[in-house]
Amino acid sequence: MKKLVIALLLSLALAVSASAQEVPAQKSDRLFQVALLQSLMQGEYDGVVTVGELKQYGDTGIGTFQAVNGEMIVLDGTVYRAVWDGSVEVAPDDETVPFANVTFFDADIKAGNVNADSMSELKSILNSVVRKHGRNQFYMAKITGLMPSILVRSELKQEEPYKLLNDALKTDQREFTYSDIRGTVVALYCPDYMEGLNTAGWHLHFISEDRQKGGHVLDLAVKDGTLELDIISEFAMIVPNRESFNGKGLSINMKEAIQQVEGN
Ligand SMILES: [Zn+2]
Repeated sequence: MKKLVIALLLSLALAVSASAQEVPAQKSDRLFQVALLQSLMQGEYDGVVTVGELKQYGDTGIGTFQAVNGEMIVLDGTVYRAVWDGSVEVAPDDETVPFANVTFFDADIKAGNVNADSMSELKSILNSVVRKHGRNQFYMAKITGLMPSILVRSELKQEEPYKLLNDALKTDQREFTYSDIRGTVVALYCPDYMEGLNTAGWHLHFISEDRQKGGHVLDLAVKDGTLELDIISEFAMIVPNRESFNGKGLSINMKEAIQQVEGN
């Protein structure tokens, strides 16, 4: 399969101000994206890279699998899959990936004692960090600790012919609520200008500490969590060169449909 790699380098010098809670950026790293959220939304569910290949581009991130067979959480170099019943397995290297974002994680910023009663409260905490360090950078965040409550979802594997993602989720989304569960949220922030390729703002996935439960986060509370944040100034993307992908109009505005799917 021929693959087109688009590398967009944002040569933005990071000005990470020194404070007690921060460690200096170790290196300028890159966010790697497989295809577009907009192509996934339009039913482009066939894989573009394998899990084995994806791991060469990052050790931390989020995404989904061939035929939307579960929510992806990449943490410490392991690619996990939260399947339709909320349980988690390690994805095999030959499984394929139609959409994902990964990076090699460096904790440029660390903070403790993160408390939030809701997803919107957590996002406003994260957004205050983003405003301080540059709203037009990419960020990968890890929030680890006790979640007094969390609502996550996964979905049933899709069959061909593939439906649009928001139509598929209307019937095939499954939601799970957990109380007092320890684990890690892996969250991606994309700046506003990514609206045509992904979604602006935060997208959160969760995996429990025992790696048994997980999914796409719809709501949560965090108690005394630890926040680690990677500031990322480079972006690279790979798209499939195949008829189904090339036949799709990807410039249409899908903001509303994406917000439905994200649960915003
Ligand atoms: Zn998700």
